Parts: sequence; structure tokens; C-alpha cells
Amino acid sequence: MDEFSFINSIKQHTYQQSSVVKGIGDDAAVFRQSSQDIVIAKDMFVEGVHFSRQTMEAYHIGYRALAANLSDLAAMGATPAFYLVAIAIPDNWSSLELDQIYQGMKVLGKKYKMDLIGGDTVSSSELTVSVTVIGYVGSGGARYRNSAQDGDIVFVTGTLGDSQAGFHILNNPGNYKNEAYFIKRHRMPTARIEFVKALKDCTRLSLNDISDGIASEATEIAEDSDVHIHLYEEQIPVSKLFTQFPPNLQHKWKYFGGEDFELVGTIPKNEWSIVQQAAISTNIRLSQIGYVTAASNVKDRVFLHRRNGTIERLDKKGFNHLRR
Ligand code: ADP
Ligand code: MG
Repeated sequence: MDEFSFINSIKQHTYQQSSVVKGIGDDAAVFRQSSQDIVIAKDMFVEGVHFSRQTMEAYHIGYRALAANLSDLAAMGATPAFYLVAIAIPDNWSSLELDQIYQGMKVLGKKYKMDLIGGDTVSSSELTVSVTVIGYVGSGGARYRNSAQDGDIVFVTGTLGDSQAGFHILNNPGNYKNEAYFIKRHRMPTARIEFVKALKDCTRLSLNDISDGIASEATEIAEDSDVHIHLYEEQIPVSKLFTQFPPNLQHKWKYFGGEDFELVGTIPKNEWSIVQQAAISTNIRLSQIGYVTAASNVKDRVFLHRRNGTIERLDKKGFNHLRR
């Protein structure tokens, strides 16, 4: 199969977004927008760095690559509309596997009424999938990390550490309880798109998605908002069978593990009920995990109140690609 028949095989024949003027098939795509703000994110997914064929099937690679991008749109408060895919393909990937990568994306594309409107195809030694997503948010309505203030409630969606637990199971086969659940959380994460839509009436809300661990994401909110964030160990949500793993791994995965693609956010107390209502109407778990205080120094950003009463500084120790 050559580049052109490949592009033809992944091309959508109809588009769901009415704003598409030109999809795949010319030098660039065109869509028309007048009143809303346009939100764009890109995430790259490289074999040997982000995944291996031992832990991810082709379908999951596509699914996971688009889901990670959708999570960034969710964290901006945006509604997804389009995606573009640049793919670098080694010879040892079959056309069936490539098709499965796109199937993994298409299933999410369909769920969120997104259209694939372009991309690029090259050959290379490692499989690389780089997805760009485009979404909309009402004019001025994007959710930033810099809007946390003294007295806000800190919340998180879902449960933390499950993706790393799934990754651990895939790399260390053994006897685990609820294996399929943890593996699915690793391979097929869920972006909290519907939940964020239900937060549209919040007047001030900061959001960040958990791609690198809550320690890192909460620190980003605290730094950008110039505040302190206090988190309580006993309130950090974990799934029911998470405690089967060694305590040191639980700790590491919960705070620094990442890739759960849940959302951490802050909200003024008087709007907490909107967030609670959004969680109920979209059927997701929501936990209050701490609160925001005014900054008294710029060095310590996030504090973890341990079960035993001690308070620790939670460093931004999530995965950091350029750290040497
Ligand atoms: P050009 O040479 O003008 O950049 P290409 O031949 O690379 O165009 O691509 C032709 C069309 O196919 C364009 O609309 C492009 O966006 C789309 N396309 C190419 N590769 C991909 C891909 N991997 N996924 C989705 N669309 C693609
Ligand atoms: Mg061209």
C-alpha cells in the first residue's frame, strides 16, 4: 500500500461538523467559524518513549493518542470538533495494524462528532503518531490554570493511579484482582468532555488535566495562579482494588504517575454545588481533595497533609522528558 491509497483508506466520506468547507484531499483543510473561540492542542506519541507493542495494541495506540488530546481540550473547557493526524510509519507495521490505529481514533471521533480533516504520512524507524485537535469554546470562556484564588475548593474527577497500575500489570504479569479494569484505564483513558460542558455556568474555574501526575498538575495551577494548594491524603480518590499494590507504588502512582487523564480543578466555595451537580448529571466520581490559600512564598506550592498528620511539600516530580 502506498501513501496515496493509505490516505484514501483513512479518509472520511462524509463530515459531521457543518462548519467543514474542505476536508481531506487538498493542500489544507478549511472550516468556517464566526462567533466562538477556537482551541487547539497537539500531543505526540512515540514508540519506545510513550508505548511499546508489548503493552499496547494498534487500536489502543490510536485511541490513547486521540484521548490524550481530547483531555487537553476538556481541561480548557472546549468542545471537540476536528482532529489531524501526522503518522510516521516503520516498514514492520502492517496495513491492518495501521487501519486499527485509525479505528481507535475513529471510535472516539464518532463519539464526540469530530471529523478527521487532515494530516501527514511519512515513513520512519519508529512509529510516531502526532494528533492535533481543534475545538470550540464560547467567546472568552476557556478555562485557564491561572484562576485559582484563596479559599477555593480543590477537586479531582475519577480515581488516580489506575493507569500506572494497568501499566505495571502489563509489564509484570501475575495474579491481580480486576486486571481488565486497570489495563483498560491505561490503554483507553476517558477524557472528561461531558463533565466540563456541564460546568459552563461556573464564573471562575481553573482546570488542568492529569497527564503527568497530580503533584505536577496541581503545582502548575498553584504557580500560574500564585497560590498554595493543600491536598489531603485521605481524600485522594483511588479505585476499590488499588490497595492490592505495594504501598510505595500506590503512593508513586497516585501523586506522580499520570496518564489518568482525570481533571484537577479549583472552584470558589459558592459554586461548588455546580460542580457537584455536573458530576451527578454526567455520572462521574468527584472528590473534594483540598483547598487553596494565598501564597506566602514562591518556593513551596503544593502541600500534602498525610494521614499521620505530617505535612509534606509535594514536588513536581511527574514524568519530565527533558530532565537529565
Ligand atoms: P500535501 O503534499 O499537499 O501536503 P499530502 O499528499 O501530504 O498533501 O496529503 C493529501 C491530503 O491528505 C491532505 O488533505 C492531508 O491533510 C491528508 N493527509 C495526509 N496524510 C494524512 C494522515 N496520516 N491522516 C489524515 N489525513 C492525511
Ligand atoms: Mg500540496
